[in-house]
Amino acid sequence: MIEVSNLKKSFGKLDVLKQITFDVNKNDVIAVIGPSGSGKSTMLRSLVHLEEINDGSIFVSGDYLVRDGIYSKPQEIKRITTKMGMVFQHFNLFPHLTVTENLELAPRMKKKESLEVIRRRSTELLQKIGLSNWAKAYPSTLSGGQKQRVAIARALMTNPEILLFDEPTSALDPELTGEVLQVMKDLAEEQMTMIVVTHEMGFAKEVANRAIFMDNGEIIESGHPAELFTNPRFDRTKAFLSRI
Ligand code: ADP
Ligand code: MG
Repeated sequence: MIEVSNLKKSFGKLDVLKQITFDVNKNDVIAVIGPSGSGKSTMLRSLVHLEEINDGSIFVSGDYLVRDGIYSKPQEIKRITTKMGMVFQHFNLFPHLTVTENLELAPRMKKKESLEVIRRRSTELLQKIGLSNWAKAYPSTLSGGQKQRVAIARALMTNPEILLFDEPTSALDPELTGEVLQVMKDLAEEQMTMIVVTHEMGFAKEVANRAIFMDNGEIIESGHPAELFTNPRFDRTKAFLSRI
């Protein structure tokens, strides 16, 4: 579904991604772990073109977003990035819009579907995340867990083929992480393809079929979570795992 090869990205003199290569198959749930500053967010952001890479290729279900460092045309980039939905650590909801308006903004702007169709989907998704009663509420009145569930529903509104999560529970009080992880678990059970940057090892073990350990802009190792967490092959992985 996604093929990333030899991805390179630097900010000035800082090489943040060095030759990142991995692929994502349909229905994969991939947990990306690694210390702060290792390039996890930059890698995810590159996939949805929130960052421009310096070299390498990103291939998304049949189309190149970027090939050997050369980006596709803007229209093509837009078409490819809409195949992916992104959920951020800090929710990034629009504070001046209600929950329903947050959900409907992107599909409405696209003008490809009737409001009726869009409304049906937002209603369904609010039901799915258990927030039907909050349709007209503003984000500031929601708990962190509720906000993140809304952000997930919003990402689903455009029917993405793959969802990217960047530390979706890191900004939440511990008692609120469970409800967000549950929504993600439900999505995995529905065969949603997902890449999840997370420190929730329990979730990674239970839900992911592959874990990738990144350090200092590189993928150090990857494998089945149970195997990688219990039998890491490299010292850097061992050191990281012993700290969390
Ligand atoms: P992680 O998500 O693993 O914590 P990031 O991808 O956020 O890592 O950051 C990787 C490195 O890139 C860090 O050293 C960070 O300071 C740097 N970095 C990230 N974004 C920028 C930016 N916009 N400008 C300059 N440096 C950045
Ligand atoms: Mg990050």
